[in-house]
Amino acid sequence: FDEEEKGVSTDTQTFMALCSCVPEDRATQSLLNKLIRCSLVNNTNQVEVLQRDPNSPLYSVKTFEELRLKPQLLQGVYGMGFNRPSKIQENALPMMLAEPPQNLIAQSQSGTGKTAAFVLAMLSHVDPANKWTQCLCISPTYELAVQTGKVVEQMGKFYPEVKLAYAIRGNRMERGNKIQQQVVIGTPGTVFDWLLKLKLMDPKKIRVFVLDEADVMIATQGHQDQSIRIQRILPRDCQMLLFSATFEDTVWKFAGRIVPDPNVIKLKREEETLDTIKQYYVLCHNKEDKFCALCNIYGVITIAQAMIFCHTRKIAAWLAGQMSKEGHQVALLSGEMTVEQRAAVIQRFREGKEKVLITTNVCARGIDVEQVSVVINFDLPLDKEGNPDNKTYLHRIGRTGRFGKRGLAINMVDGEYSMGVLKAIEKHFNKKIVKLDTDDLDEIE
Ligand code: ADP
Repeated sequence: FDEEEKGVSTDTQTFMALCSCVPEDRATQSLLNKLIRCSLVNNTNQVEVLQRDPNSPLYSVKTFEELRLKPQLLQGVYGMGFNRPSKIQENALPMMLAEPPQNLIAQSQSGTGKTAAFVLAMLSHVDPANKWTQCLCISPTYELAVQTGKVVEQMGKFYPEVKLAYAIRGNRMERGNKIQQQVVIGTPGTVFDWLLKLKLMDPKKIRVFVLDEADVMIATQGHQDQSIRIQRILPRDCQMLLFSATFEDTVWKFAGRIVPDPNVIKLKREEETLDTIKQYYVLCHNKEDKFCALCNIYGVITIAQAMIFCHTRKIAAWLAGQMSKEGHQVALLSGEMTVEQRAAVIQRFREGKEKVLITTNVCARGIDVEQVSVVINFDLPLDKEGNPDNKTYLHRIGRTGRFGKRGLAINMVDGEYSMGVLKAIEKHFNKKIVKLDTDDLDEIE
């Protein structure tokens, strides 16, 4: 593989790496969301800002012009279709672009504009006349590093003097010759080698250090230590920036070690609610019976787009097969597919090429398909012990915020046990789940 790799393009390498990805881990989830997402997520919460120096005025911007960006970068920003800064960018950008540079820890769910923000900060701080590495960004995986690199390339499209290098596996370099690219994006291991073993970059000349996806980073063996070792050899006045989608205590502790004297920006994830959802259940006897019921309601559910959740891959595959035999066009999202294949399935579904997506919970966890307004629980969600999984139920069918459209959830019950699960979920949320007679669908119209 090594020998072959040399002549291979980055795209092919990405593809090969994607295929070998362990599914269902956090990095994969994050990557899938990046591949799928093409706009900002809605969030109506307030941004919380904790300034290092509470006496200095708090700047926020409503336009990109206010940031006094280099014209080439402003052009890049508008070229990407951004009209105004996202919620998190309103506060993060002025802090990151301030003189002297300020350190920042920022937390907000994926899709809120963090990557675009730090890429803009890196590109703003580069002096293109200097042919050495000035901005360094570390990402948890090869694939995530490549995705960030793509954002650098897009945003820097009109600023061709700024060059980018990828410190990722497969990108072999000769020892000792300093690289000229001003921006380097990579994974901790390779970045560490480039800095210390191969001496391709002078750590003392790094002006901006970004650690992205801190929560995914610490979930990967060895990355935490390597990140800290990299951070230690950077100059004291190097700007340190850390981003994370979630903020557990462990992430917070790690962030504290990476970023001294930080400003902190947080945007809470929007709460999901069942308020705008009509919930029903259908009483069945077994999976064949559930399949029949599903065929009966097929016409109703395909007025919009629907997602159908099954407990196992096997049931999902069986159901997809049965539905296809009936002549219904359905898509199947399954854990044994490569990340690329899964991204393609979700992409087609998003574009409306398929109206029904059948999946397992594990496979679809953490993936946001916003336009789905009908959710079918072919199997009710259970945790590992077989108890009702309220959290997953809410996540499958819940909507966020005031933008949340009305939705419809239909639960398939196939016996006493699942009836008990349904009752427990109903009680937990204190929201009625109404019985539906699939021979008489007037109820749900
Ligand atoms: P995060 O890093 O928080 O996951 P991204 O920076 O990747 O978020 O942004 C999510 C999506 O929104 C991307 O498709 C990105 O191009 C887009 N985006 C980012 N900032 C803006 C903006 N100010 N206006 C419009 N779209 C934006």
